[in-house]
Amino acid sequence: MIRKYKVLFLIMFIVLLMSLQFVDAKIKPKKTLTGKVITIDAGHGGRDAGTSYGNLYEKDLNLEISKVLKKVLKSKGATVYMIREDDSDLSSKWDNAKKRGDLYRRILKIQENKSDLYLSIHINYHYYSSVSGAEVLYHPINPDNLVLAESIMDEFKSNLNTDRKVIKTNLYLYSNTRVPGVLIECGFISNPNERYLLQKESYQEKLAKSITRGVENYFKEIDLWYTFSRGRI
Ligand SMILES: [Zn+2]
Repeated sequence: MIRKYKVLFLIMFIVLLMSLQFVDAKIKPKKTLTGKVITIDAGHGGRDAGTSYGNLYEKDLNLEISKVLKKVLKSKGATVYMIREDDSDLSSKWDNAKKRGDLYRRILKIQENKSDLYLSIHINYHYYSSVSGAEVLYHPINPDNLVLAESIMDEFKSNLNTDRKVIKTNLYLYSNTRVPGVLIECGFISNPNERYLLQKESYQEKLAKSITRGVENYFKEIDLWYTFSRGRI
């Protein structure tokens, strides 16, 4: 008799556990970027300030935006690595060409992190101060790069004031890794309005959320494509 109760109790316990799990899954839906590894490459740093306006340096804005982006991507469940988290560059004192050495080590970090993708964050400059708008650059070494670039650009067009297009690039960093990734030019430091916005935390957040939505849409598209092409559906 006691044994019978024990079994009954065990069954009830298992049912309770299963129902709790179900409730938990309903309350906390799986985050969209869970399991994805993303490396953020805040452009320039240290000896390399990038572009500038007065004493406002691209390297500092890149880092600020990258930190906000890290927070937003993590809130969606992604594992995020930062190539740099302070004002430093990655060149070594032994490098003959400092800039090349810096970029080479960025590539190594992207690969070491086993990234699903990387995002390079930069700020633009134009001789004409009227030129403005965020844009995304990609290298055709990996066909996924264009998908990622278009996906982020679509979000920029819907959420930010830009009518710019994706641009093909031939820059060293982007042509030397097959890990999917893009270069994001967040706006023009040479444009008075954008220069003001790029320094505001609320605008940095808007940028980060647009990039994150672009990344979410990219994974939706890419994961579906690979599932189909591997014949799993
Ligand atoms: Zn730059």
